[in-house]
Amino acid sequence: MDDSIFTKIIKGEIPCRKVYEDDDVIAFLDINPLSDGHVLVVPKEQIDLIWDLDNETYAHLWQTAKNIAQAIQAELNPLRVGVVVEGLDVPHAHIHLVPLYDRDTLQLHHDYPVDISDERLDNIANSIKERLIAI
Ligand code: 5GP
Repeated sequence: MDDSIFTKIIKGEIPCRKVYEDDDVIAFLDINPLSDGHVLVVPKEQIDLIWDLDNETYAHLWQTAKNIAQAIQAELNPLRVGVVVEGLDVPHAHIHLVPLYDRDTLQLHHDYPVDISDERLDNIANSIKERLIAI
């Protein structure tokens, strides 16, 4: 597996504006910030899907995200610190912490919801519920 851009940052091969590091997690400013204080919180283990992290690393990652979000909130005073897990560009699990200074930065508040039939909604809810029972 080739090193991801984040593994290269972890190895010190690419510079970053680091805000936190311990044995398992690193956090640094996003190079293309959506707002002032946009931070990426990244497990050092190079794994694509955040959901595939072992439970201990997963819990530690989110605890670190919480600590950093509280520091961002205190320092930069946004309305909220938004959280995004996407990973469509970099296949190395990470959490985006995006300070929201207005309602448009993350554009999650659609003017209208997606039009889905009641039957489809019932099917989606039931299929997720059944999958959970199977896990
Ligand atoms: P995603 O994979 O969740 O869509 O986004 C990956 C994020 O990584 C993007 O917001 C992008 O700006 C950020 N990114 C990509 N390459 C670098 C880099 O070399 N340094 C830093 N600090 N951020 C990066």
